[in-house]
Amino acid sequence: MLPLPSLPLHRKRGRPLRIDLHTHSNVSDGTVSPDTLVHRAAAAGLDVVALTDHDTFDGWPIALTAADDTGVVVVPGAEISTRLRGAGVHVLGYLLDPTFEPLRDELTKVRDSRANRLARMTQLLTEAGLPVDVSDVLAAAGPATTIGRPHVADALVAKGYLTDRTEAFDRFLSEGGPAYVPKYALDVHEAVRLIRAAGGVAVLAHPWGRASRRVLDADTIAALARSGMDGIEVDHEDHSAQDRAALRAIAESLDLLITGSSDYHGTGKSGHELGVNTTDPAEYERLLERAAASTRVAGRGSPLRPIP
Ligand code: AMP
Ligand code: ZN
Ligand code: FE
Ligand code: FE
Repeated sequence: MLPLPSLPLHRKRGRPLRIDLHTHSNVSDGTVSPDTLVHRAAAAGLDVVALTDHDTFDGWPIALTAADDTGVVVVPGAEISTRLRGAGVHVLGYLLDPTFEPLRDELTKVRDSRANRLARMTQLLTEAGLPVDVSDVLAAAGPATTIGRPHVADALVAKGYLTDRTEAFDRFLSEGGPAYVPKYALDVHEAVRLIRAAGGVAVLAHPWGRASRRVLDADTIAALARSGMDGIEVDHEDHSAQDRAALRAIAESLDLLITGSSDYHGTGKSGHELGVNTTDPAEYERLLERAAASTRVAGRGSPLRPIP
């Protein structure tokens, strides 16, 4: 059974809590282990950090153990790959029951599709003059259970062809790039429903970041709220000051939670240092209330309160 994080407080030692609700470890495409991530969160002065690896819960046990060692509260979550009118949309699921089979099955499908596209991607790269094998990508991915384009990028860097992930995305891997191959992703409304059915809270990740901006207008966000989406990640490095103001207004008009995060990827993404954006403690408290209600309605266990 997973260790239980301590209950959150509004303030600690006379100052507001510092809360970062979106980070990645090397269980997906971050570069540090879940254990190191939590220790870095402590060193960065965070009180609460959510581990939200792409399409997997595999980092939870180690992160929750590290939480006990450091006193940092770890919120278990995942960033789920979904699709809306052909565009990739990311949905954060928090405090859900990781044993809920319908969601687990979908995540398995996404991970399998991610792995299966590597043969085609490496073939396209080889044809483009950058010879690389699936085995090179798997070596670069190390302990990851979710393999992504960043690992393909890492393999190209390891071979000495390119300098970093950014160059790999800019020249080859971004949507429409010469080595881009799409993956299976579930419908975004279905993802929201599955997170809620698993007793969790669903938050739309960086809606106006690169991939999802063109499909996520205010009406579409309202439709997602009707499907059960709980919140919007407003404070994210992909959003300009104007984006943040507009998204905040949309969230307020729909009574959605407003979150902020770093989307930390270790050395995999520059400018995304832990705590670069944070979530207001009052919004975090609302998130925990939503999680408790969601767990009750779904009749599921949660990672905080397992089924007795
Ligand atoms: P995938 O999950 O395989 O579709 O790859 C998407 C991941 O690549 C996301 O987690 C992004 O954070 C990451 N990513 C996208 N663009 C870049 C970039 N320019 N540099 C580094 N990472 C990126
Ligand atoms: Zn990522
Ligand atoms: Fe994302
Ligand atoms: Fe992310």
